[in-house]
Amino acid sequence: SAELARAESLILEIPDYPVEGILFRDITPLLADGAALRATVDALIAPFAGTYDYIAGLEARGFLLASAASYASGKGLVPIRKAGKLPRPAAAVGYELEYGVAEVEAHADMPQGSRVLVIDDVLATGGTLVAAHELLRELDYEIAGTAVLFEIEGLGGRDTVNDPRLYTVFHS
Ligand code: 5GP
Repeated sequence: SAELARAESLILEIPDYPVEGILFRDITPLLADGAALRATVDALIAPFAGTYDYIAGLEARGFLLASAASYASGKGLVPIRKAGKLPRPAAAVGYELEYGVAEVEAHADMPQGSRVLVIDDVLATGGTLVAAHELLRELDYEIAGTAVLFEIEGLGGRDTVNDPRLYTVFHS
């Protein structure tokens, strides 16, 4: 749609951030535009209507989209957080970053077997989403699908994530 095309034009490309050689996609101008944000969140969840019981958002930019998606769909929200931020984590999964390692944790506040739609802002190598999926499966949840605002192509992220129900609104 015209609204989505306009939303896409609001994503900035920032060279050499956070380190030299990385072209960072900055989505904050899109977030700052009410009509663009609404159209983007609607597009993000539209393919998954009726297929999920909860939404999981990835810290930190994923929270911004997941929260709006939860409100729009009326589904509950589960934060997937970096290690050490949750008071009663039920599971933790480690993963490798370009430099160093990281860990994600979640509470288990949803009924076992719940179908969860996973939301994040950007798909790069896919390592973050793989860890999130593993975490949710460890807690006996089902991955209903994965919805990402922007997919950076050429890094193998889509293959690494390996979710047949991966949907990305925009891509490079
Ligand atoms: P991956 O694990 O796929 O390599 O990286 C994805 C994670 O890093 C996401 O949680 C995302 O927020 C962050 N990320 C990686 N590259 C970018 C980028 O260019 N822009 C933004 N906004 N986030 C990025």
